Amino acid sequence: MMRKTKETGIVTVLFLFLLATASLSESVMAHGKEDSELLKIESLTGHKEMASFLEDVDRKAEHISVEVIGESVKGRELHLVKVGNDLEDTNKPTVLFLTQQHGNEPLVTESALEVISQLSNDSNEVSNLMDQVNILIVPRLNPDGAEGDVDWDTSNLYRNGVQTRNNANGININRTHNSLSQPESRALHENVLQQYDIDYAIDFHHQIANRATDDGELVSGAMLYPTNDDVTEEVLENSKKIGAVLYEAIEPKDYSNLAYYDSDNTYTSIARNNLAANYGIPTLLYEGRGLSDSLNKVSILEQKYSDVQIEQAVEAMMAVIEAAADDSIETADTSIWESLPEQHTIESTECE
Ligand SMILES: [Zn+2]
Repeated sequence: MMRKTKETGIVTVLFLFLLATASLSESVMAHGKEDSELLKIESLTGHKEMASFLEDVDRKAEHISVEVIGESVKGRELHLVKVGNDLEDTNKPTVLFLTQQHGNEPLVTESALEVISQLSNDSNEVSNLMDQVNILIVPRLNPDGAEGDVDWDTSNLYRNGVQTRNNANGININRTHNSLSQPESRALHENVLQQYDIDYAIDFHHQIANRATDDGELVSGAMLYPTNDDVTEEVLENSKKIGAVLYEAIEPKDYSNLAYYDSDNTYTSIARNNLAANYGIPTLLYEGRGLSDSLNKVSILEQKYSDVQIEQAVEAMMAVIEAAADDSIETADTSIWESLPEQHTIESTECE
């Protein structure tokens, strides 16, 4: 009898151990990542390199023009890339992509540059697309943060601020869409949002790396529509349609695990709410997986996920461009929002 109990005990312990191992495997992985496995900043496009790439595209592609819409706190150029055969033609839908308001969320900018590159060729396919849609891209609204060139103490960040969320003044640009207190947000509003008739917008970000759905799978990306009371039903519904198009494009991919970005921020100081409430622009918030620097290592993305993250946002951008061009976005099935899984943070910072 004793022996049996003991055996049962061992089996139970083993079973519980296996159960725990299975459900924690992803979090253990996130937890156990080595510094050498973290996203390599040198793999990213530096700001000077980006500027010269954009100059090149501007020179070579008839249907693309690049404008400097302002300067960051530290005097870095802020770019607007305008893509389309006739940007004056407001009968065509106009799509806006904004990336890297937060300097430590870099891969969405890499995606934007890839999309610009794909749209810069003179194939018939691109040319036809250019007749049907106008595209505005503001890649990297926070170049000072992206270069880690800031005037505030970054020593509490895990990688000492190799890239930073806030701008050089230590201000979160994505809290200044009402005040326009920072040169970066001022440039976006005065020279883009107030100048163009925009039909759809996506604000591209990254969230912390350690979020998972209930099945324990790491989230590849999360999204949310505007949540401010002043946003009209129509703008809200069209915002959800952007998400539906994005979901249909990404969900079939092997790497995909999209989730609902649960945020109680209803203020118009953030782009998602401001663009929708103040300009009537249907707007989607996209949050790719993982930061380049943060307070904790667990929030930082590993290099091995970099390509997939870039690809995911490229797919998202191209899908929305195409759906706006052929009007299929108008009939996108917004019921996907009802089944979009919740996400939760799977690991604390206890052992860092
Ligand atoms: Zn962000």
